[in-house]
Amino acid sequence: MKNTSKEFSGTIRIRAHHILCIQGFKGYGYSEDFVHNMTEIIDYLETNHSIVVETIKSTDDICLYCPHSKKGQCHESKDSDKRITAMDQKVIEYLGIHDNNTYSYNHLLKLLHEKIDFLKLKDICGDCSWIENCNLYLKLNNNK
Ligand code: SF4
Repeated sequence: MKNTSKEFSGTIRIRAHHILCIQGFKGYGYSEDFVHNMTEIIDYLETNHSIVVETIKSTDDICLYCPHSKKGQCHESKDSDKRITAMDQKVIEYLGIHDNNTYSYNHLLKLLHEKIDFLKLKDICGDCSWIENCNLYLKLNNNK
């Protein structure tokens, strides 16, 4: 395993659709390193909701330990970089936020709870291979 015991501090860079993945994470991922890093990021954010998040549309602090992240792009599948960036853009539009801007994690959570319902989640994440393992999907599906 790579050393993923990075000490997170200050601003954390999160691609917009990963705001949803963070809520849905059940401990599954692309590799042991990926899961370890994502768990650390979630733990860090949960320690203090006022942590500042920079919202982006490219590889982020979660992608950092993903085996599909190469040269700043997502190579999970053919055309994945384009597809995943389109997911980021949908989240940005639904939440009414901006690319390359900073928000408290708390503010992003508030927007998510106010603005993302099951239909919007399906529109954003309908093609995601993890959807049946996503806590957010299961929760909104039960509440619809
Ligand atoms: S699959 Fe792509 S978007 Fe998802 S974590 Fe890996 S590099 Fe990032």
